[in-house]
Amino acid sequence: MNKSTQAYEVIVLGAGVAGIYQIKCLKDLGTRALLLEADEDLGGTWFRNRYPGARFDSESYTYGYSFSKELFNEWHWKERFSSQPENLRYLNFVTDKFDLRSYMRFNARVKSMEWSEEDRLWTIKAQNGATYLTRFVITGVGVLSVATPPKIEGMESFKGDSFHTYWWPKESVPFKDRKVGIIGTGATGIQVISEIADKVGELKVFQRRPNWSVPLNNSLISDEEMAVIRSRFDEIFETCAKSQGGFDHLPDRRGYYKVTQEERIALWDKLYDKTPGFSLLIGNFPETFFDGTANEALSDYVASRIRERVVDQKIAEKLIPKDHGFGMQRLPLETKYFEVYNRQNVDLIDVSETPIERITEIGLQTTAEHYNLDMIIYATGFNAVTGAMDRIEIKGVKGKILADKWRDVPSTYNGIFSHGFPNLLMVAGPQSVSGSTNYPRAIETGVDWVTRFLKHVFKQGYTRIEAQLDAETQWQKEVKKAHQQMPFRNSKSWFTGYNSNIKGREEGAIRYHAYWGGAPRYREFLAKSEEEGYQDIDMR
Ligand code: NAP
Repeated sequence: MNKSTQAYEVIVLGAGVAGIYQIKCLKDLGTRALLLEADEDLGGTWFRNRYPGARFDSESYTYGYSFSKELFNEWHWKERFSSQPENLRYLNFVTDKFDLRSYMRFNARVKSMEWSEEDRLWTIKAQNGATYLTRFVITGVGVLSVATPPKIEGMESFKGDSFHTYWWPKESVPFKDRKVGIIGTGATGIQVISEIADKVGELKVFQRRPNWSVPLNNSLISDEEMAVIRSRFDEIFETCAKSQGGFDHLPDRRGYYKVTQEERIALWDKLYDKTPGFSLLIGNFPETFFDGTANEALSDYVASRIRERVVDQKIAEKLIPKDHGFGMQRLPLETKYFEVYNRQNVDLIDVSETPIERITEIGLQTTAEHYNLDMIIYATGFNAVTGAMDRIEIKGVKGKILADKWRDVPSTYNGIFSHGFPNLLMVAGPQSVSGSTNYPRAIETGVDWVTRFLKHVFKQGYTRIEAQLDAETQWQKEVKKAHQQMPFRNSKSWFTGYNSNIKGREEGAIRYHAYWGGAPRYREFLAKSEEEGYQDIDMR
């Protein structure tokens, strides 16, 4: 071993929500462990996404960790849907409370990992020149952590400010009197647009396809309310555990076809106007998601609410999706988004009608018009789920590269292992529920399972673990079966692998990124593996 090489039992990649909890668990086990983080500080998605308007769309207290009641009692969430600066403070608070910072190395982007069969060790190389040896690697590198700016001719020639939302600068960005253009109207674009419309001189929104979006219904949390939330600790996390998506909302079980139209509208009015978060999606009659007729009726209802909120009905029609039903792509939540289009300083440009031709030194040219701009914001999404793993050269057994194995479709066992890559575990991996449910609830499941598994491995003195190929093949069947049952199975969304800025994924190639059978069922698979003594994993 080279003198400067550092050796560990476990190395964790990523100091986001998943990595922070994982390193805590390893510390508690007394493992010689280290965490490597590419950025200059911890926080992952909440360190990076500093764009105006960035906030949770899960209730804050269901996004926070549930592993410690003491932590839950010590932290006061100021808003029901907390904003990025507060979320980053929370993750720093957790790290300091459990004294985890000394386990973390920053500015340590991992560029490659190579498995040695002879030594049963991974060699990790970071871009900063450091080399590490470790028996096990656990990745928590995020599912939406590789930004994909568009590929538009002339982008580099633009003389004003331009940012992808993920790489939003730390310094404050002036908006006053400036002409700002934004490309993208997904969950991110919708948050940014709503936040900056009244702060900029002019705002040009370049929209290709509209998304359904419904009110977040955010509010402040008073001391009294926080006390009530704390008293509901067990109930909140029991509900999250029961719910398919890991949220504090349960569906209305009266049955869409059993109630009258008046009763449906009464429920939808309440969910739209008053109930926070994803309630119109998951606190609704399940038929509105799974049954075409019920979904159409709900889509019509939401469309009518958009028409009420937007003065110019031509604009309203452009903001109503016509190519997918409500909830058939990841649902963005909004605060006064539709009212933005009633402002004199905001224009909606439909780039499906008049496509973007190029970016110029001073603005953006569509097939119809040139728009002079001082700033361009790219809210154009991510190389979702596999992007962060694929950009590391991960060389497993016989030099096989993980990104090659996953080129068309990722393949894992329970979202945690991938055959041919021994001693590599993922706590937010493809085909787990980390991309399909409330993220912190999902990763706590993953981290808890991985920690108990490693405890077993350490106790038995095993030095090589690898999921069996048959088990992985079986998991592919489960993943595909669950995907087939999802009404959005063919949608143009990162949920299915669509990304117009990645070659080969422009038309929505299905990549089986996530397990869509719900969090409770996923936990059953993990529990079964554990109960059966991990028979599906070779351990020596
Ligand atoms: P996204 O959902 O992938 O949306 C990207 C947007 O950019 C789409 O409107 C897309 O249009 C447009 N676009 C991409 N390339 C374009 C091009 N070359 N020309 C014109 N338009 C282009 O990305 P996102 O909004 O960043 O959201 C990604 C995910 O991050 C969300 O689904 C969510 O899971 C997460 N997120 C969470 C929160 C939160 O509240 N916690 C907030 C923001 C994001 P098309 O639809 O036509 O492709």
